[in-house]
Amino acid sequence: MDISKYRVSNGSDFVLADYATRDRGPYKKKTHALKDQKANTAIIASEQDKMYAQDHWGVIILTQAMDAAGKDGLIKHVLTGVNPLGTQVFSFKQPSAEELDHDYLWRINQRLPERGRIGIFNRSYYEDVLVVKVHNLIASSKLPDQLITDDIWDQRYRQIRDYERYLAENGFIIIKFFLNVSKEEQKERFLSRIDNQSKNWKFSTADVRERGHWDEYMDAYEKAIQNTATEDNPWYILPADRKWYARTLASEIIAKRISALGNKYPDVGEEKLAELEIARQQLEDE
Ligand code: AMP
Ligand code: MG
Repeated sequence: MDISKYRVSNGSDFVLADYATRDRGPYKKKTHALKDQKANTAIIASEQDKMYAQDHWGVIILTQAMDAAGKDGLIKHVLTGVNPLGTQVFSFKQPSAEELDHDYLWRINQRLPERGRIGIFNRSYYEDVLVVKVHNLIASSKLPDQLITDDIWDQRYRQIRDYERYLAENGFIIIKFFLNVSKEEQKERFLSRIDNQSKNWKFSTADVRERGHWDEYMDAYEKAIQNTATEDNPWYILPADRKWYARTLASEIIAKRISALGNKYPDVGEEKLAELEIARQQLEDE
């Protein structure tokens, strides 16, 4: 599958409207996509196993999107089958009082995966240039007034670029997904959450309020991506109106990125091999 058309590695000329919300890639049938998705998940599981054994690299999968775009389902479907010992998921919600008493990356640092693991971020520090920007939450934040200037967003984009580069240079790669859902599709999904009793819990009236800020969010996303899509830490814009396609695409991208790390089981040296032989002898002599 051609993943390059969904990849943004030079943000400066990124225009969100150029990216599809509805796509089916090369798939005539959904079942073919599901087959590929399963195969990709198996690759991710096997690569993750080696990565865990090697204990050098770490991977962060970060998802951002409007409500009902399918973040939770994507995480569930793509990573079911990967060893739970090697993964950790964290959902970033409205910051707690304790979190607000710190800089915005403080809570993120506490949730970074260990080497050898895949950390999944359901939302992330990008909220601090998205919801915080759309609702001007920075005005009521604890940041000293003198530091809240017109440059605040450009400063944050730079901080995020630097932070991601820091992580990459320290062996933690970040795979950044924006699930690009259309406003029409979001409406359908909200209605189905209202109509379907088993989905009622997923719906909050605040979701409709946020929808009212759709254009401001799209603008905030576009600017965030323009300023943080780099060769080392690209964004992937997933057409999200068809859930199965977004999931297959994400699985393909994750499989490719993790495989590119060149994971392999650690070679054990002569000394260790000799120890293993002695242990074998002891077991056989019991
Ligand atoms: P959900 O993902 O549906 O559970 O919703 C979590 C909510 O927390 C979303 O509305 C986010 O916009 C919000 N949220 C996450 N991070 C922040 C933040 N740094 N500041 C304000 N709201 C946030
Ligand atoms: Mg929600």
